[in-house]
Amino acid sequence: MVGEDVAEPASERRGAAEAAAEGAAAAADPDEVLRYARALIAAPSENPGGTEDEVAEVAEGILADLGAEIRIVRSDEGRPSVVARIGSGERPRLAWNGHLDTVPTGDLSTWSSDPFEGAVVDGRLVGRGACDMKGPIASALAAVAAIRRAGLSLAGTLDLHLVADEELAGIHGTLVLHDHDLLDQDAAIVGEPTEMEIALAERGGAWVTAVAHGKAAHGSQPERGVNAILTMSRFLLRLEEVLPERVHPLVGSPTVNVAIVAGGSAPNVVPDRCEVEIDRRIVPGEEDPEEVLAPFRSLVDDLVAERPDTRIEITLREWTEAAETTGDSAIAATVRDAIAAETGSPPPFVGFTGITDARYYINDAKISTVIAGPGSLSLAHTANESIGVDEMVTAARAYARTFIGFLGVG
Ligand SMILES: [Zn+2]
Repeated sequence: MVGEDVAEPASERRGAAEAAAEGAAAAADPDEVLRYARALIAAPSENPGGTEDEVAEVAEGILADLGAEIRIVRSDEGRPSVVARIGSGERPRLAWNGHLDTVPTGDLSTWSSDPFEGAVVDGRLVGRGACDMKGPIASALAAVAAIRRAGLSLAGTLDLHLVADEELAGIHGTLVLHDHDLLDQDAAIVGEPTEMEIALAERGGAWVTAVAHGKAAHGSQPERGVNAILTMSRFLLRLEEVLPERVHPLVGSPTVNVAIVAGGSAPNVVPDRCEVEIDRRIVPGEEDPEEVLAPFRSLVDDLVAERPDTRIEITLREWTEAAETTGDSAIAATVRDAIAAETGSPPPFVGFTGITDARYYINDAKISTVIAGPGSLSLAHTANESIGVDEMVTAARAYARTFIGFLGVG
């Protein structure tokens, strides 16, 4: 009987929430999304090489106009993250994370327009950070603006985390927010470019240093020395043997890449040292650095067995965890429904091949988190980086639906 009593109000509430989501999505303004994105791009925040101060100020200005409660949280080096609260302050609470820093522009002659001008070419906004990820941030800001323009206010609370330093591991950005106990939401979205697919897992990385030691000799008498570069070459040619046979359903297999090589001192000297930096990407489930390093060491043992003068040291320079979250969460369902309402079909659950700040929410703060944003990762970090203006608008509409769907209207 009780069930019957509440059945109608509940469906009325659902109907009202759906109408609110429709209204907010319809209120998203394409000119506004573009204006926000261009303003963010015009404030350089190259990392390494710059700071996020100027772009943080731009974001702060937009958020102040949107009535957000704003706080700037700085790392011990002074790098700023913008933390903005919209809504009632009550639960449920949702975090939306986007990074304010970008990779450097690289050689300017490889760009067809000024990377900070924000040129629009054939419906695409071009600039450093266009898809990674000032464009996605513009979409989230425009979603907040649309909700406001539609005359709605959120029943729960949206916390925007516009952070410093993601490109160099988030030590001065999202990690600082975590250290300030600011990662305490019920769910989170990281808006990295996924072409509005929903990523539930990301790979991590083990940066491994290998040093081959040889014996110096006169270059005219190589037989008197042990050439460390040749020792290293034998190791590198068999490097793929360090990979386990392991496939993750969303992010695929681990990979290994030799990134930097250094060795030798003069053309007429047998080199006694060769050092390489290796990037071994790990998949969710690979949690023990020793387990990842063990095959590197057994490969060295094999080489020693073949040639006793082989000496190679293996050390772990840096370890970044992989992360994985479930597709059964309320946030995954809400984002999926919101995107489906805009595109006509539910987006697939996928994996993200890069590393993002999602790991801080998932692993450290134990928050259900999805990665979903406009733009393509394949254009991130490139010359002439770009994002479709229509992609940003679709994302703004989908985010508006998501914020209302997850947080309700009050
Ligand atoms: Zn990014």
